[in-house]
Amino acid sequence: MARKLLLTHIDVPGIATYDVYRQKGGYRAVEKVLNGMTPDEVVEEVKKSGLRGRGGAGFPTGMKWSFLAKPEGVARYLVCNADESEPGTFKDRYLMTKIPHALIEGMIVSSYALGAHTSYIYVRGEMMPQIRILEKAIAEAKAAGFLGKNILGKGYDLEIYVQPGGGAYICGEETALLESLEGKRGNPRIKPPFPAVSGLYGCPTVVNNVESIASTVPIINDGGEEYAKIGIERSTGTKLISVSGNIVNPGVYEIELGLPVEEFLYSDEYCGGIANGKRLKALVAGGSSVPIIPANLVSTTAKGDARLMTYESLADGGFQTGTMMGSGGFIVFDEDQCVVRNTWNFTRFYHHESCGQCSPCREGTGWMEKVLHNIESGHGSMEEIDLLWDIQSKIEGNTICPLGDAAAWPVAAAIRHFRDEFEWHVKHPQEAQTRNFGLAHYAEPRMPLV
Ligand code: SF4
Repeated sequence: MARKLLLTHIDVPGIATYDVYRQKGGYRAVEKVLNGMTPDEVVEEVKKSGLRGRGGAGFPTGMKWSFLAKPEGVARYLVCNADESEPGTFKDRYLMTKIPHALIEGMIVSSYALGAHTSYIYVRGEMMPQIRILEKAIAEAKAAGFLGKNILGKGYDLEIYVQPGGGAYICGEETALLESLEGKRGNPRIKPPFPAVSGLYGCPTVVNNVESIASTVPIINDGGEEYAKIGIERSTGTKLISVSGNIVNPGVYEIELGLPVEEFLYSDEYCGGIANGKRLKALVAGGSSVPIIPANLVSTTAKGDARLMTYESLADGGFQTGTMMGSGGFIVFDEDQCVVRNTWNFTRFYHHESCGQCSPCREGTGWMEKVLHNIESGHGSMEEIDLLWDIQSKIEGNTICPLGDAAAWPVAAAIRHFRDEFEWHVKHPQEAQTRNFGLAHYAEPRMPLV
């Protein structure tokens, strides 16, 4: 069995309560930091661990913490980004539901390291059950003396507040989140200044993902060096992966980074293979915004090496032959699925969620949606496939925030790897219009299928 750090006690009855969490060793990390570590020592430990942000960007967490400005007499904030809403990603929601004290404990450890005395958990508005669960966990932690004034008699004060968001995907972007937290419309800010210098209410702020913050607990308990022994290269520790699509065992898994993708997909310990005995056609490895890869690039890289569940291996070959770890949302497509239809569906989402500040994103996502719908429904032309490529290329890198890239990459990857499927829709308008989705097209595999 693979080692677990975050979900170790996930199946213990009552683990969502303070009493059971504490019986299982909970809040030892808080005791350890308050009883004998300086904030800088906690930051160093996280640096040693090699932990990288688990929300999508994969930036080293300890380094991000060390960028935090520390002007005299100015408040600092830790904000937990629990606005998880990337299609295909649901691991933070799972963690908060099942073992909320892991997040609260991580919030206390992280806030202490950053010198924050007020911290926020910004939760997606639709997640009302999780909001209530977190509020209960905070009340329990406070009653036990782990929050509030003079925690454990060590002179450290901390309050944590849960703030429901308004349900906009863009509020998962850290500066849009901060705008929303301040009570404004959630529009991303132009950077610089970065939140580490001017974040919430203009004060130095660190925004970290739920899983990143919870991961500081095993790092402190076991030591950064021990944590760094798990995984390979610059991908250390464990990672939560949420799996959906045409798979035997959908759900949330904690894996050791470095696990071969093929083992993750096909072993009974994890996904258990493609559902209904079908063949794998394609994979979206890190949530809807990362490039889709065809079956022949899922298990091996373009160089022929086994593809691993690491930031580096998934990205091997760049966007030509690779993808990204992203937020860890695995979406599996079997041989019957239509890539054009799926791309249209994703693009519809990004068009709907665009905040509208920059024209490449505001106009481009809507334009791509229309062209994709045209092609998918059998009314498109070959020229429109080229037009689609042109539009996405003009969005990427030309917007204020990464939503523009997130909308462009899936379209680019779909055309790059499945252009013949787009052409099939143009050449077979009748079948496309009658919603056959090109099943006949897959009577003979178009490429080696795993
Ligand atoms: Fe808004 Fe899109 Fe521009 Fe981001 S890229 S700021 S979502 S318009």
